[in-house]
Amino acid sequence: MKRVIKVLFLFLSLMSYAQKADLKGHVMFRQDKSDFPGAKMFLLNDKKVILECETDKNGLYQFTDIPVGTYDLLLRFKDFKEKFITNINVASGMKNIDIVYPDPCVASEKICPYNHTDSIIPIVYGIPGGETMKLADKGLVHLGGCMVSECDPGWYCKKHEISF
Ligand SMILES: [Zn+2]
Repeated sequence: MKRVIKVLFLFLSLMSYAQKADLKGHVMFRQDKSDFPGAKMFLLNDKKVILECETDKNGLYQFTDIPVGTYDLLLRFKDFKEKFITNINVASGMKNIDIVYPDPCVASEKICPYNHTDSIIPIVYGIPGGETMKLADKGLVHLGGCMVSECDPGWYCKKHEISF
């Protein structure tokens, strides 16, 4: 009896080894949720890249016939910050992981790079209205002009005349 169970167990574990699954998903731009083509996708198992692919023109990626298991997913696009998604549990069948990219900028803290917290005012972007102009005249806000990217600085140090 013991032997039968042993054989049965071996058979079952072999079965689960043989199970394959697909991992797929949709990568979207964070701003407007539009498709993100050309992002390099790396599938990692035990910290090693085992497969890679690229999102197509519709922002879709797919890894097919991968063994059931736990994976990490790494997204890389040009000079953008990499995105890591860890501990993806892929069971049999199809696993869907949609990704919004890139991650939002981390707002800078109200501390001057020269390490003081006084004389720091917020930066206001865009065409200033009358109120904003008054505040700027009083030195309470700094006019930053048009916003260039999502990662524009949020603070201005009056002492050192720098934005951060
Ligand atoms: Zn400063």
